[in-house]
Amino acid sequence: MVNEVFDSNWIAPLGAMVCGFEQDLVKYTGAGHAATLSSGTAAIHLALVMLDVQPGDYVICQSLTFSASANPIRYLGATPVFVDSEAETWNMCPEALEEAVVGCVEGRMQKTGAGRDLSGKERDSRKAGRPKAIIPVHLYGMPAKMDEIRAVAEKYDIPIIEDAAEALGSRIRDIMCGNMGDMGILSFNGNKIITTSGGGALLSDDQALMKKARFLATQARDPAPHYEHSEIGYNYRLSNVLAGIGRGQMKSIDERVAQRRFNYTFYHNLLKDVPGISFLPEPEGFFSNRWLTTIQVDPEKSNGITRETIRLALEKENIESRPLWKPMHLQPVFTGYPYFGHTVAEKLFDNGLCLPSGSGMSDEDRERVGACLMKVTNSTAC
Ligand SMILES: *Cc1c(COP(=O)(O)O)cnc(C)c1O
Repeated sequence: MVNEVFDSNWIAPLGAMVCGFEQDLVKYTGAGHAATLSSGTAAIHLALVMLDVQPGDYVICQSLTFSASANPIRYLGATPVFVDSEAETWNMCPEALEEAVVGCVEGRMQKTGAGRDLSGKERDSRKAGRPKAIIPVHLYGMPAKMDEIRAVAEKYDIPIIEDAAEALGSRIRDIMCGNMGDMGILSFNGNKIITTSGGGALLSDDQALMKKARFLATQARDPAPHYEHSEIGYNYRLSNVLAGIGRGQMKSIDERVAQRRFNYTFYHNLLKDVPGISFLPEPEGFFSNRWLTTIQVDPEKSNGITRETIRLALEKENIESRPLWKPMHLQPVFTGYPYFGHTVAEKLFDNGLCLPSGSGMSDEDRERVGACLMKVTNSTAC
């Protein structure tokens, strides 16, 4: 596919390969339209721009996520309002979401849950009012409880930007992640289930909105023979060369999902009876691409073994594993922004570990990781 791009000598943003990649994404996700972009972060930023997010506006965001879900809220000077997770999917808790919406509308967010006081500057600039958007995330490929989240969004008439960066190939019943909100975003960064080295996409059924997204992503150039601009634009389109990589990768998406799910099954079979270790099962009707296999380690039930015991034992064998994403409401950079919920996300972070989960893991790789996991979980227990 990349050679095809070079043969056509169309080494540029946009081009036939970009159109083809966008069609592949439409076909795979069922979304009405797809615009490929330079990153998933750019897609979230554009989505917020199109919802007219302004300084002082509220945007609700899942707290347990990668910082890229929340950073674009600050690019626009808006106020992120973080929401806790529920224990079943580890994603945005619908009840805490509703508390957050009501808190924003009534302007009494500091009192709620573990909420933090806004800094003086934030307090001055904030306008009480309905949040401009809700950003749920399908973390590690597990779909969020979108039926319940959508019910809250519809009740208060707030658009959903669905962060499906980690969840291409996941679904609830027959609806694919990325196609469950008003807009959805994907990432093709190097660590994701398919990659273009760097890249992303915005998905939506709304044709006018997608036309606007393409316009803004291409430096907001008005139709005129000269360069005419009546809006601030961005250089956010994907290169035709990278779209060639993406089209190649889309051919193997189903295989990669199967490989990732195989990793999960392997770890699950190996560790399911180890006291204190638990997995993230799929709720009825949910299908996860199992982008990463994650475990919870409860030291009270595991004879004192913690996720750090396991992480360090793996590291000694030169095997990398990582704690879960640290919740945004605990990040220094987001100190002072409102938070709604309890300590679900915090506990998941404290006890959670992402195990090696690459699509390219061989049987030997899995055996090597598995042997180390068995050793560390047994030896301390004895
Ligand atoms: C990777 C990721 C993003 C950002 O995507 P980029 O393409 O790296 O900008 C956003 N949200 C989540 C949850 C991610 O994992």
